[in-house]
Amino acid sequence: MNPDEPMSTEQAEKDGYWLKGGGNDLLKGKPNWQEFFISLPDHQKAFVDHSALRYLGCMDERDKGRQEWNAYKIGLGGAAIGYTERVPDFLPKQSILVGTSSHRRNCGYATLFKEENGLVNETVNQVADDQAKITAEMLGIPYLGVVEDYNMNPPVNFHPARAMYYDGGGYFVPYLTPELPEGLLISRGMVSNSEYSRRLAKIAMKIVLEHGFSRRFTQDSPFYAVIVTEPGVGIDKEAATVEVKRAIDELTNEIGGEFNGHLPVKVDYIEKVSV
Ligand SMILES: [Zn+2]
Repeated sequence: MNPDEPMSTEQAEKDGYWLKGGGNDLLKGKPNWQEFFISLPDHQKAFVDHSALRYLGCMDERDKGRQEWNAYKIGLGGAAIGYTERVPDFLPKQSILVGTSSHRRNCGYATLFKEENGLVNETVNQVADDQAKITAEMLGIPYLGVVEDYNMNPPVNFHPARAMYYDGGGYFVPYLTPELPEGLLISRGMVSNSEYSRRLAKIAMKIVLEHGFSRRFTQDSPFYAVIVTEPGVGIDKEAATVEVKRAIDELTNEIGGEFNGHLPVKVDYIEKVSV
């Protein structure tokens, strides 16, 4: 930034979120995410019991559900918007699903779905709500409603995420460990389709690089694509790495030019350790 230019309110606000969200020393001096993770006092809380109740929500880091639902998020694109295999996929796990949801503050995935399907007469909120209702009907579970603004403090169009959690197991809920940096959640282990999941990863990173800290990310302070695994559950580290690296390659082809050909994204890992 040019030091002679007066700092805009928006920039000052973003700087505040950057500092609040971990600043330049996101991992608190630890060399990698695994060591950082296990150093957090509440780290075990982020891996929930396999029988814990879940709601189907959006990967959006600002969606943390509503307390009265008594359920933790499964993060996908909206409530699995446009995911045609959503019924067969969720059947074995349906007993833990309490319902679907949608959220406010411009769902990025609903925006994309609206554009791709030419839904010019509907608002983004309508698309998000309608699709969550369709998913609910397909699964035979209730549509729980909307995650309102009170769970989302940042400005409407701003994503404060410093990471994307690509969860191979499907039982990782980052917001249950409050010291973990804000991050989008893709509950990869909850779906079978690798192509769909890879596309979600690409969209998640695109949203943050375009509507988040964007150029504030550098090779020294990168956006982290954190691959989370739980031994013996869902997909393993190697498979998840292939998917995420392909998503990064695809996104580099798409918007790499805006970042001198190299996205400020780094792949790192968290693995569940037994206590
Ligand atoms: Zn969303």
